[in-house]
This record gives sequence, structure tokens and C-alpha cells, in this order.
Amino acid sequence: MGKPRILLIEDNVDNREMVRFVLERAGYEILVGQTGDQAVTLARQERPDLILMDLSLPEKDGWTAAGEIKADPALAAIPLVALTAHTLPGDRKRAMEAGFDAYISKPINLPRLIETLAAFLPPAQSDG
Ligand code: MN
Repeated sequence: MGKPRILLIEDNVDNREMVRFVLERAGYEILVGQTGDQAVTLARQERPDLILMDLSLPEKDGWTAAGEIKADPALAAIPLVALTAHTLPGDRKRAMEAGFDAYISKPINLPRLIETLAAFLPPAQSDG
């Protein structure tokens, strides 16, 4: 069995590389994209074990991309986790209504991020 595969969609390069680094260290394989369109396209091509997606994205936002992913029967079972600075009470509800299964607030609490993802994934495989 390979490592669990996470598709990370984040347009901010600093956030993207920081999260990629931390999750690779935690034993996951990370695929990356930067737009909502790439989220949908890469989900179809790669069938990741989980999608971790920013909400404020160029071209197509994360809410729209989440709706498209959850509307595709081949992808609907993939856990979708939002990564966002939109933390007003209504934002969480809006993300859940768009199809997200969980929600991580920015600034990111890294132990909480890893704990949240692990609940949706098979065990991570550390390189040792
Ligand atoms: Mn963004």
C-alpha cells in the first residue's frame, strides 16, 4: 500500500508550500493545484484519498469547486476539507452546505490540521 494521497488546492504559494511540507513530513503524498478548476480536474485524474482546499481561489472559488466534486458520483465519496480565513459563523455553514466535510481555519493550527485529516484517512506512512 502506498501513502495516503492528499490533493492540496491553495493559490497562496507560502501557505501551499508550508502545508505541503508539514503533510509530507507527516507521511502523506501531496498533489497540488492552485485554482478551483484544477481542483475538479485533478480530482478526476488522480482520485486522491482526500482534498484539502482553500475557499478563496482564482477562476473558480472553493465553494463552487466543492459543489462540482460532490455532484460527481465518481468523486462524491472523497473527503473534502476547507482551508480558509473565512471564519465568521455563517462561513462554516456555507462551507458545509457546499459539500465540505470539515473546516480548518487560518492561521493554521498544524497539530489540529493533521488530527483533522487523519480522521478521514488510512494511517500515514512516515519515512522513518
Ligand atoms: Mn486563496
